[in-house]
Amino acid sequence: MDLDKMIQVGEQVLMKNYGRAPLSFDSGQGCTLYTKKGEAYLDFVAGIAVNSLGYNHPRVIKAIQEQAAKVIHVSNLFWIEDQVKLAQLLVENSFGDKVFFCNSGAEANEGAMKLARKYAYKKYGAERHEIIAMKGSFHGRTMGTLAVTDSAKYQEGYGPLPGGMKFVPYNDLEALEKAITPATCAIMIEPIQGEGGVTPATKEFLQGAKALCDEQGILLILDEIQTGVGRTGKRFAYEHYGIEPHIMTLAKALGGGFPIGAVVATEDVAAAWQPGDHGTTFGGNPLACAAGVASLETILQEKLWEHSEKMGAYLKEGLRALAVKYEIVKAVRGLGLMLGLVLEVPGAPIVEKAYQKGLVINCTAQKVLRFVPPLIISEEEIDTLLTGLEEIFKDME
Ligand code: PLP
Repeated sequence: MDLDKMIQVGEQVLMKNYGRAPLSFDSGQGCTLYTKKGEAYLDFVAGIAVNSLGYNHPRVIKAIQEQAAKVIHVSNLFWIEDQVKLAQLLVENSFGDKVFFCNSGAEANEGAMKLARKYAYKKYGAERHEIIAMKGSFHGRTMGTLAVTDSAKYQEGYGPLPGGMKFVPYNDLEALEKAITPATCAIMIEPIQGEGGVTPATKEFLQGAKALCDEQGILLILDEIQTGVGRTGKRFAYEHYGIEPHIMTLAKALGGGFPIGAVVATEDVAAAWQPGDHGTTFGGNPLACAAGVASLETILQEKLWEHSEKMGAYLKEGLRALAVKYEIVKAVRGLGLMLGLVLEVPGAPIVEKAYQKGLVINCTAQKVLRFVPPLIISEEEIDTLLTGLEEIFKDME
């Protein structure tokens, strides 16, 4: 099917919930995607912070192929070797003691919210059920995660959403403290708000939030779905802040492109779940976990978060130089290879122009260009991006 035909048929048979660019990629290698015609696009989106090892990584491919030929799915009624191995890797490399696997980010956050409520219910009773989320947050599109996603646009028309959630301004410790009541069971925070415009939490805020949680027996849930697994220059973003959460959610990069999510928790909190308390048919199945083990082991063995930190610093410096030179660029923010370029103007037309130059970039929060490339990106590839962006900004002057 050629692209025109694909779009024509797709318009007829697919629901219209995505705004898609008139582009389709047929293959990928390293940090580059290729159309069927062989046109190359250097990728700074990585499937929205998913493909951390880039495309066609031999270890991930081999693990998926070998596992697919053995067994793709068995139920969680039975033990699954790679599920155990992947959980062990996460436990050995994070604050967590126990892991639950699911299939997506939203599902991981649903799990985290349910775990927090069950923990509080068992420890304090049903009145302790409220979850405090942040303004500007994005935690997913299911009913539960939508209720903690601060977006009138995403929420509109879906009410009534699950209750017992409230929002406070991000990075406002005083407001957070005031919002806590005897009903508060958890506080849910992204260490860097991705969809909210690549905005990092301040050290004071996250440390203060953790202290409030510890003082009052509240659980801190960190949504590391976008920031986790090496993206920000640490294995997990909480390491930048010198604190540990009680619960952390992961997805995106965990499976090297294969869908998988995880809820990671301390022993004490995880003990709230007993057989039958939560579950999912596909979560942690052999194929997803084989992909996860291959991907996470590679990231850990190659210490890719160190490369992410180095390349992130290089990209940040280049973006800062553009901010100095061009008036439409206001600021650069983010950590490691999760960076945002804050513009004076809407970013969508710039994304279009980047496509025309063979560059895949993304815009979030209307005016923030987001860069979340594979963690294996090189200086030369970053230079190609910076040159392309400079040409676009120059043309816009
Ligand atoms: N949480 C954060 C911080 C995210 O960035 C996303 C996705 O962009 C999600 C949750 C939802 O993940 P998924 O799209 O896999 O459901």
